[in-house]
Amino acid sequence: MQTTLMIYDGTAPADSGVPRTGGVPLAPAGFTWPICGSSCGGPLQFFAHLPVEDGVLSVFVCQNDPGACESWDATSGANRVYLFPREELQPVEAPATGVTLLPATSAIRTHVVTLDPAEDDDHDELAPDAYDLARSGWKREPEERFGKQREVLGSLGGSPSYLEDDRLPACPACTDTMEFAAHLEEGISAQSAMNLGGRLGYVFVCRACREGAFLTD
Ligand SMILES: [Zn+2]
Ligand SMILES: [Zn+2]
Repeated sequence: MQTTLMIYDGTAPADSGVPRTGGVPLAPAGFTWPICGSSCGGPLQFFAHLPVEDGVLSVFVCQNDPGACESWDATSGANRVYLFPREELQPVEAPATGVTLLPATSAIRTHVVTLDPAEDDDHDELAPDAYDLARSGWKREPEERFGKQREVLGSLGGSPSYLEDDRLPACPACTDTMEFAAHLEEGISAQSAMNLGGRLGYVFVCRACREGAFLTD
């Protein structure tokens, strides 16, 4: 089992092309900042810029009225994920009002963890979960840098960690079940973190339709 962990790698410029949480979105010309379709009607907050194989995932979640807008639900309109082409992206200016940007930009580096499930003490009833094992393993690494617990910002690819099948989102365009793309964890400090309500974020994509989706557990 291989898991590509996303690990906090210090701060980055707000318009950096590296994988990151926070900063400003990089989007194609003519992009319009997404508005919450749940209860508040305000602009969504930009969470993450995640270059992937066939483009860039750009993740937005409503933070204008946490708890009121159903940002944990893929169909609520209180979150939005885009799959942009990689080329000709440009920084987007945030709307003047609303909770639109995170207080800090956090660079992400990837770290591939290979685990043989047989080596783990699998006395649990549950089947070993690749992401859970990789994340736990990282926390046990001896080298202390930023505060181990929160260095893991999620993972790329693989399969969704402990998510019920009935929560897998359908593509709004073709209605097929979407492909899992990334986990998101809140982040390195309470001040700079994405607010996921203490939960794990899940990013999905339909590569054919270039649609994305977000939900939390
Ligand atoms: Zn909202
Ligand atoms: Zn689709």
